[in-house]
Amino acid sequence: MARRKIIAGNWKMNKTPSEAKELVNTLKPLVENPDVDVVYCVPAIDIVPVGEAIRGTNVQLGAENMSDQDKGAYTGEISADMLLDAGVKFVIIGHSERRGYYHEDDAFLNRKVLKAFEKGLTPILCCGESLEQREAGVTLDWIRLQIKSDLQGVTAEQAKTMVIAYEPIWAIGTGKTATADQAEEVCGAIRSTIAEIYDTDTAEAIRIQYGGSMNAGNCKELLAKPDIDGGLIGGAALKPDFGKIVNYNKD
Ligand code: PEP
Repeated sequence: MARRKIIAGNWKMNKTPSEAKELVNTLKPLVENPDVDVVYCVPAIDIVPVGEAIRGTNVQLGAENMSDQDKGAYTGEISADMLLDAGVKFVIIGHSERRGYYHEDDAFLNRKVLKAFEKGLTPILCCGESLEQREAGVTLDWIRLQIKSDLQGVTAEQAKTMVIAYEPIWAIGTGKTATADQAEEVCGAIRSTIAEIYDTDTAEAIRIQYGGSMNAGNCKELLAKPDIDGGLIGGAALKPDFGKIVNYNKD
């Protein structure tokens, strides 16, 4: 069975609650595509207003981060139960900005992935290499290591439902996109790694996104690749361009 494409916006630290509602309303008529799952991963403070603004539309709600703990004395953190109660379905885990700026390592991210599954949230697990790693020729080794570490203890049934986002760090927010062939090579290697950890059924079911300066101009070529099942979109998610990416299969 063909995998359904999933296009997710990562709003990062952009949009106040009132700006967020405005953006949802601007994008509403542009992001209708029955062939595609559409997700807005928004700042924590925007989750409730965006949840209200997308009611009755095809858009699903996502968070950008989540605690690995259930509840209690973790000042500033947000739990899976809080996200679920607010209508969140997806949660980005291990974005390179969290790995880099906030030193989130694979053991910590593995706990978040397990917590998301325990609670019934769908993780969008990010992985990706730096420019130095790409130039040193260790991209595929690095990605395999991230995937194997972050999925410790995850069952095949759980893995089938999740999303992995391949995001080369050198392509995020830089305007430099991986070529469709470069992106396909790594997304294919991720799928092979999943087959190695689990089985071919799981590898065929899991959805793998590309992220890194995807835009209205380059999305068609990237999304035509057999192992690229969608996109995680940063900058372009805040603009009407996002609607063009969601409708990549229409002319
Ligand atoms: C991201 O941060 O997930 C991302 C892909 O950003 P951009 O599209 O701006 O490169």
